[in-house]
Amino acid sequence: MHSDDPTPDAPSRDEGPPTIDHLVIVGSGMAGQRLVEALVQREGAPRRITLIGAEACPAYNRILLSPLLAGEMEREALTLRGADWYAEHGVELVLGERVERIDRAARRLTTAGGREIAYDRLVLATGSTPALPPVDGLELDGVHAFRDLDDAAALTRVAERGGRAVVIGGGLLGLEAAEGLRKRALHKRAREQDGMSVNVLQRASRLMNRQLDATAAGLLEAELEGRGLEIVTGADLERLEDDGRGRVCAVRLADGRRLAADCVVLAIGIAPSVELGRRAGLEVHRGIVVDDSLTSSDPAIHALGECCEFEGRTYGLVEPIWRQVEVLAAHLSPHSSNTTPDDETPRYVERPCATKLKVSGISLYAFGPIEPDDDHEVLTYHDPEHGDYRRLLLRDGRLEGAVLYGDTAAGPWYFAEALAGRNLDACRQALLFGPADARALLDATNAATPNPATPHAQDRSPQEEAA
Ligand SMILES: Cc1cc2nc3c(=O)[nH]c(=O)nc-3n(C[C@H](O)[C@H](O)[C@H](O)COP(=O)(O)OP(=O)(O)OC[C@H]3O[C@@H](n4cnc5c(N)ncnc54)[C@H](O)[C@@H]3O)c2cc1C
Repeated sequence: MHSDDPTPDAPSRDEGPPTIDHLVIVGSGMAGQRLVEALVQREGAPRRITLIGAEACPAYNRILLSPLLAGEMEREALTLRGADWYAEHGVELVLGERVERIDRAARRLTTAGGREIAYDRLVLATGSTPALPPVDGLELDGVHAFRDLDDAAALTRVAERGGRAVVIGGGLLGLEAAEGLRKRALHKRAREQDGMSVNVLQRASRLMNRQLDATAAGLLEAELEGRGLEIVTGADLERLEDDGRGRVCAVRLADGRRLAADCVVLAIGIAPSVELGRRAGLEVHRGIVVDDSLTSSDPAIHALGECCEFEGRTYGLVEPIWRQVEVLAAHLSPHSSNTTPDDETPRYVERPCATKLKVSGISLYAFGPIEPDDDHEVLTYHDPEHGDYRRLLLRDGRLEGAVLYGDTAAGPWYFAEALAGRNLDACRQALLFGPADARALLDATNAATPNPATPHAQDRSPQEEAA
């Protein structure tokens, strides 16, 4: 994978240089900013750091675009660090400039504005762009994505005008966009003035089909419809219709249905932003291919966050990206006092992730496989009156997956137990009621079968080990 490196004097990935002179990070998003934050705290960090971003403002918390659209947060609350902070920490910030080209042999990059910047080490943190469905009409006015502050501002204007919105995609992002539009419209009383209807089109037979089983998805759909969203599942998109003046006016489905639309939001997924890396000749599959030190096929170039691909996986949530940042920060400051001399430089390891939905008043938490296989034991609790649902998948007494809707307080505990791989047979009958009841049974069993050498160490969750 690293055989075509044109920079033979580049440092080896394992040895690393004593201290990097000039580190340039392309992409002032959540990953790029977090890396800067980690580096400025480390000794042995690169002597100079330049952060270049195509967006005009300093990095902000992209996750909070949903509550921003819904009118639940102010714009200022999203900013992670003001421009002053970068100056105070000696970080050069270049905003509103897209990097167009990397000359790997000269270790130099060029921005769209013609600025040339030399680097000793480069990090690509270019994120991703909305995935586009293969249909006609995507170029029409009134067709939006939901990725950045400009999109949130455009959708806010749409919601405040009222009208008919169609959100394509019934996953996390689509539902947050739909609820954001609905709430923002209510906020402005657009419903009373001009009215605002929001349709959500989901190709699969249920909402959030990658995270929820049919029961939890049904509860979610009923809740959202009760709030006023119109959900269409099994919707096979055919095209977006032009009103004759270059503006979208309807969405056509393959079964002949036509949904009138003043605005369409595309939320079917994301595609890693790899063009810069591909043009530079880096190994690129779906994302920019990196190894477990986040190094690309060029040892002087790393990739991080949603633009990278590790062991065939790409990313769409921040939890694994934060762990990537820690690994890369350690590699970029090899002689940091933050690691003891005996410590191995950390390596990135894939770990399962849990999912939460950030729509206020709706709690759900899920991890692991959705469909049980023949060897899974399935434990289910459903209280329709209170809208509580829990379904656990166990294999040989060990938790592999959970779907919680309503009361999700036990979710993190289930997740920790699944990661720890602890055998939960002893508390099986209390497992659905959460940690308090389950722990009492586990403790009673542990007390009855003591192991004087290492009492139940193999059965501890990481939290308990830390305690
Ligand atoms: C509305 C919304 C809600 C979300 N909610 C959650 C959530 O609840 N939980 C969760 O874990 N994740 C959530 N995410 C995902 C999370 O925001 C991303 O995983 C995270 O932002 C990825 O960080 P990144 O730095 O890789 O990409 P980004 O944050 O997208 O940053 C990439 C940056 O690189 C810039 N860039 C790209 N190309 C160039 C170039 N050539 N030159 C210069 N700059 C360039 C882009 O303009 C962008 O600013 C949400 C995302 C959205 C859009």
